[in-house]
Parts: sequence; structure tokens; C-alpha cells
Amino acid sequence: MSLHKYKRYIDEGDLVAVYLGRDSIKPMIVTKDESHVNKFGTFPHNDWIGKEYGSKVVSSRGTFIYLLHPTPELWTLILPHRTQILYIADISFISAYLDLKPGTRMIESGTGSGSFSHSIARTIAPTGHLFSFEFHERRAEIARQEFKDHGLDHLITLNHRDVCRDGFDLSDTVNAVFLDLPAPWEAVASAKKAFKQHRTGKICTFSPCMEQVMRTVTALNEHQFVDITMFECLIRNYEVQPIKKLTVQDAINSIRSMDAKRRDPQANAEAKAKRRRNEFDETDKETDVDDTAEMIVSRTRTEMKGHTSYLTFATFLPVEAVQAPASE
Ligand code: SAM
Repeated sequence: MSLHKYKRYIDEGDLVAVYLGRDSIKPMIVTKDESHVNKFGTFPHNDWIGKEYGSKVVSSRGTFIYLLHPTPELWTLILPHRTQILYIADISFISAYLDLKPGTRMIESGTGSGSFSHSIARTIAPTGHLFSFEFHERRAEIARQEFKDHGLDHLITLNHRDVCRDGFDLSDTVNAVFLDLPAPWEAVASAKKAFKQHRTGKICTFSPCMEQVMRTVTALNEHQFVDITMFECLIRNYEVQPIKKLTVQDAINSIRSMDAKRRDPQANAEAKAKRRRNEFDETDKETDVDDTAEMIVSRTRTEMKGHTSYLTFATFLPVEAVQAPASE
């Protein structure tokens, strides 16, 4: 079952992202004569075989689920967690900032649960390559098997290796490097060698603490990386709300009315009491705005949550640019 290509019909043995609700999507392998049982009812897998991905299937109790085609975005939401993982907000920002595109050859370490790897494989396909490094043996084995099962093994090479101790053992090969490691600064020297030496390249490190960022920046400076920039990725929720559209005259009337009320607190209190009784006086009518004149706006909350990490980016310069004598 490939996460890289789109398949129209569900076959036995395929992976399905079963959508039970907004916050509940589960990965399932379609297995003949098995059933998925949940609080909504029983859903026999046999009913799924031959259906189109995206179909709605209904249980005997009339409840329903959707059978979605797994994509890297969905996989990030449903994958079995073996480590902390990267989510789409960070992955998309990193991909854009590292200039990842079809044909890019890049390094990532560590592989972890393979969340980042799945998205990147699709971004760099069909001609690019991801060299992924993981020092935890079991995690490396599981990720290697998953990449194979998901039809990504021609795009990803998984290496079981401690990159801080033994480096990447690659030279003059990649355009980009992404490090999600506890001590990324220990891998900077080896990453430098792995870049295509006669082209510019980009590196990104993902670290939760400022102390890690500072040590990484020191290493990047020592190895002559340039344009070192750090971002904090935060989640900002937008709320879509209808608001009343005001004409200039509406606004003037409203200000006048507020002004009048401020000057006459007694009248203001009476007006409020009237409004509570659902009565209207002429002033209210005057400032009343046509309810049909609404527009939809999106507003953000001022408080932002969702700090995952600091993302530090830097540029690798071609060797000739670094070694060139200073111009007179
Ligand atoms: N980015 C991954 C994802 O989205 O699923 C998660 C990476 S996880 C947070 C960090 C991984 O780095 C762990 O699996 C850990 O075993 C691995 N790791 C830590 N130090 C390492 C090293 N020196 N060499 C290779 N892998 C290492």
C-alpha cells in the first residue's frame, strides 16, 4: 500500500485511515472476515473491499465512518508513536524554508517515528532521496519496515548509526539537512561534509531549549554557515465570526449616541433598563444597524499556545565562496 501514489479502490491488505470523528482517525489493515467494532457499531471489513477510498460505510445501527486514503498528513495524525514526532505545522515550515522540492537529496536524523520522513518522501519524489539516520536499533528496524510497507523505500535509505559519534559518512551528496536530535551541534561538522560542496545548501535543527539553540548556533558559526536564523513556531487559532457592517453614518450615529449617554448617565441607565425589557426608544432605532448587513471576518486570540521547539536555520556556502580571498 503506497502512501506516495493514490489508489482508487480498497483491496484486502490495504491500509485505511478510518475516520470515526474529527479527533479520532485510526489506521487499519483491511483483513477478510474481520470487523471493526467501536461504540458506534460493528463494521465488517468485507464491506470495505472494492469500495472507493473516501466512501462512507454504515453500520447495522445506522451509524457511519469514512474510509480515507492514507496520506503523509493523515499518517502524522495516526502513526504509532515510538518517540515525540513532528506535526504538519512544523514540517511544512521546515520544508518551505529548506527549499525542499522534487529532486532534493537530503539528510534527516533521527528518524524517530518517521512522521517527518513520510512527508518529506512525497515532497522530494520522484527523483530526490532522503538519507535517514537513527541510532536506536529497534526504532530503525520498524521505520525501515514501514517505509517498505508504504512504498517509500526507493525514496528513503534508513541507516542505523549514531551520527553524533560516527557522522553521516556522506560527502558532496545533499542539498539539505534536518536534525531532530538532543545534541545537533555534535553533527554539524559531519553535515558540512555531506553538503554538495559546490552549491549552496540549507540546514535546520529542531530543539526545545534555548541552551541547545545557543550551542548549535556556535557550532554553525565555527563551521562557517551563514544566515543563521532562529524561529519559534506557535499555533495561532483563527475564529471566523460574522460582524455587522457599519456605514460611515452608522458609525457617526453610534458615537453621537454613546457621547450623549456619557453626558447624561440618568438617561443612559433608563435606556439600559428599557433594553432589558426589550423596549426601544428613538435613539436606539437611530443607531440600530441593518442586521442583514453582515460580513464574515476572522479573528485571532491574542494568547498563542503550541510551542514545540525552536527551529534554527542556516545556509551552507559553496567551498569556493568561503575560500575566496577577500576582494580589494
Ligand atoms: N523527527 C522524528 C519524527 O518526526 O518522527 C522524531 C525524531 S525523535 C524526537 C529523535 C530521534 O533521534 C530518536 O528516535 C532518537 O533515538 C534519535 N537519536 C538521538 N540521538 C541520536 C544520534 N546521535 N544518532 C542517531 N539518532 C539519534
